[in-house]
Amino acid sequence: QEFAHLLNKKAADVIKKLLNLGVLATINQELDVETLILLGAEFGTTVEVKASKEEILFAEEPDKPEELEERPPVVTIMGHVDHGKTSLLDVIRHTNVTASEAGGITQHIGAYQVEINGRKITFLDTPGHEAFTAMRARGAQVTDIAVLVVAADDGVMPQTVEAINHAQAANVPIIVAINKIDKEDANPERVKQELTEYGLVPEEWGGETICVNVSAHTKVGLENLLEMILLVAEVRELKANPNRKAKGTVVEAKLDKGRGPVATVLVQNGTLEVGDFIIAGTTQGRIRAMQDDKGRRLKKAPPSTPVEIIGLSEVPQAGDIFLAVDDERLAKQITSERSALKREEAIQSRGRVSLDDLFARIQQGEVRELNIIIKADVQGSIEAIKQSLEKLSNNEVRVNIIHQGVGGITETDVMLASASNAIIIGFNVRPDANARKTAESQQIDIRLYRVIYNAIEDVKAAMSGLLKPEI
Ligand code: GDP
Repeated sequence: QEFAHLLNKKAADVIKKLLNLGVLATINQELDVETLILLGAEFGTTVEVKASKEEILFAEEPDKPEELEERPPVVTIMGHVDHGKTSLLDVIRHTNVTASEAGGITQHIGAYQVEINGRKITFLDTPGHEAFTAMRARGAQVTDIAVLVVAADDGVMPQTVEAINHAQAANVPIIVAINKIDKEDANPERVKQELTEYGLVPEEWGGETICVNVSAHTKVGLENLLEMILLVAEVRELKANPNRKAKGTVVEAKLDKGRGPVATVLVQNGTLEVGDFIIAGTTQGRIRAMQDDKGRRLKKAPPSTPVEIIGLSEVPQAGDIFLAVDDERLAKQITSERSALKREEAIQSRGRVSLDDLFARIQQGEVRELNIIIKADVQGSIEAIKQSLEKLSNNEVRVNIIHQGVGGITETDVMLASASNAIIIGFNVRPDANARKTAESQQIDIRLYRVIYNAIEDVKAAMSGLLKPEI
């Protein structure tokens, strides 16, 4: 009846069409998304799913302020290769191991927690912005704070800049850890100077960026770094409601020969318990056992806790959202809807910006910002393109260059474009095979140019609806 009403049709006609589709329905019948999409097609209408069942399920009861409790921050470590990300993650992991934990055997489950002055911090164990952005591209936002590692003897390098751009695109606050301070040629002041060029102005220079000198080798400054993380967490008032069914994100997953599908999940809200029925991406199952990063068996996992779980029927993907639900029937419904949604998205890939439909979407008020990633063979071209493109901003659309770099277009660039809904402009460079493949599956618009003028003209034309379609 509701569907008939929306389409301005008679309920009887809808029931007839349903019969044609092999569905025997009453006027009050609840229909699943797949059927609704088919039914829409029968009437020549496109059915768009605005909210999935689990969104409705979770959105129905927002947490009341008094139900919220402080939760530990979730931290990702980013930075240039060899600047000490892995070393820092390792030493942090072994600081403040309390007596009760000392017996536990360290398990690499993809994330771990440390305790400092009675407060916890959760670290994601895969360093680098690639993993971070790949997750974000899948809709998961797990990181509260990014620690940007810059080697004091090396300074700001291309991947440092990438990391800054990726964190900023995700609106994640950055704490800078100036590492290798023990080295003779360490020059933290130079690092700070270089960082200002990317909008990170140290606090002691009147800016807002916390910079901490550290050494993963001598452990100097580590405690300070952890305290700064807690400070930023406090300012951000990170909270969650431990007294509800859990929701979170899959951090890692694999198929274990003996145990079957094993996944590390990060609980972001609610408390996950053994025996809960959960769905994760397109898979589901009842949690048979959980263990933490010290190999301890847990019965409950409160917010911000990473746990390894077994009991899922299939291996989910990193970045999949998981949700504990009350009954199995609902869980199965939701996973089948998710599969349908995924298929739909693959076909339509709604919401992606491309130069071709930019104008129409500006007109419809859907697009107010055009995010662009620039890759070029030389720095000079980047600056020239960037300045000209930013000048194209007008009252309707703002042009943002969210990332730029010298070199070919990589898969990471495409993932960033996907996560930030951006287009990629390549100037005298090409995408590599992986980038090309990912761009195709994620429907990212990559434009390649040899002449700066042409690139500017295309964007200008696209913004005013005058772009000729690509042949
Ligand atoms: P990643 O690529 O960023 O994960 O860097 P790694 O943690 O693998 O470190 C790269 C190299 O720098 C290794 O040889 C480390 O031993 C060294 N290194 C890391 N941190 C420090 C430090 O604080 N001081 C010194 N002297 N060397 C360090």
